[in-house]
Amino acid sequence: MKILVLNAGSSSQKSCLYELKGDEPTQPLEPVEPVWEAQIDWTHHQGAAELKVKTSQGKQLEQELSLESRAAGVSQMLQTLWHGETQVIADQAEIDLVGHRVVHGGQDYQQSTLITPEVKATIDRLSVFAPVHNPANLEGIEAIEQVLGPEIPQVAVFDTAFHSNLPPAAFVYPGPYEWLEQGIRRYGFHGISHQYCAQRAAQIVGRELEDLRLVTCHLGNGCSLAAIRDGKSIDTTMGFTPLDGLMMGSRSGSVDPGILIHLLRQGDYTPDKLDHLLNRASGLQGVSGVSSDMRQIQQAIAEGNGRAQLAFDVYVHRLRAYLGAMLASLGGLDTLVFTAGVGENSAPVRAAVCEAFAFLGLKLDAEKNAQSPADQDIATPDSSVRVLIVHTQEDWAIAQECWRLAKQGLT
Ligand code: ADP
Repeated sequence: MKILVLNAGSSSQKSCLYELKGDEPTQPLEPVEPVWEAQIDWTHHQGAAELKVKTSQGKQLEQELSLESRAAGVSQMLQTLWHGETQVIADQAEIDLVGHRVVHGGQDYQQSTLITPEVKATIDRLSVFAPVHNPANLEGIEAIEQVLGPEIPQVAVFDTAFHSNLPPAAFVYPGPYEWLEQGIRRYGFHGISHQYCAQRAAQIVGRELEDLRLVTCHLGNGCSLAAIRDGKSIDTTMGFTPLDGLMMGSRSGSVDPGILIHLLRQGDYTPDKLDHLLNRASGLQGVSGVSSDMRQIQQAIAEGNGRAQLAFDVYVHRLRAYLGAMLASLGGLDTLVFTAGVGENSAPVRAAVCEAFAFLGLKLDAEKNAQSPADQDIATPDSSVRVLIVHTQEDWAIAQECWRLAKQGLT
């Protein structure tokens, strides 16, 4: 079965083609490498985009595209599947199924679902909650219909779905009750990654996921934690939007809402200016003035930059504090998982976080931690908590969901 995955961001469009053999189980266990990967980046030039393609056979393509729309970009990207150097299939009819990452499924979707006109309408309606991402996801779905035809089965895999079992105490904000009636509640994000990492962690430690109490730390440009019990997310740090919770690359995470009232009273702030301030000019970037990239923060610290050190310290302080909150929700901890760019690669961040939980008997193996080994246990044998690095694979997780639904005959 050939499964195409589309992962649309605000300024990029990533895509992969997976080939799964018919005799695999309902839930293929080990991650499979895609046979074709492509990415379009719209960030560089106005009206133009950069397309990069690579195949598992080592073929590569880099091309500048001049584009009027996302649909035109997706169309050109897909052509490289069955044309030219990077061709991996004879024609488009070979694609069996298309999976999409959809950021916001609201209260409507607790599971991945086959895309119908009603599902598209709901994703569109939920754009008020995710004004950047859901419209991009919808454009991706429609672009596929245009290129592969309306009959191609498409599946939406929601970033919010894994958190749909949060208990009310965790998802209700302590504002007026009307908020809840208006859909203003915690939804949580990065769910595809948290769920994948929890499943992969259970495989690595050789236990049933349902028997584990886990905290997964997704630390990328965006950062969030999930507390997972009985295989379900029971608490998480992102909220109504992906701005809540931990300090991130350029996002503030939680700040006293009184600060916003103060700013609105003091200056000429508009919603767009506040949005920019909190989403783009805060976090590591805002505090350090150096970068939103943890690599550059670590480099600046090594060069003696005080503000970079302060940004690192605030980042770690908040990470520890929220991890403590997740532990309280779980009532204990068997396995701690680090994932995404910072989680997988920054030994200093992992060491600083874990140090605070030494009183629980959590012990990192300093040598293993320094090597940042993917999909491995980096705790000492006598540690009371297993500490894992898991390489997150959202696209693979989306392909697995498509596979699962196909096996259930839903497509
Ligand atoms: P996204 O959240 O956009 O998917 P990633 O998960 O790829 O992003 O994480 C990107 C971040 O990972 C970068 O901004 C950088 O801060 C961090 N990162 C990547 N490699 C390293 C490294 N070797 N050391 C520290 N941080 C790293």
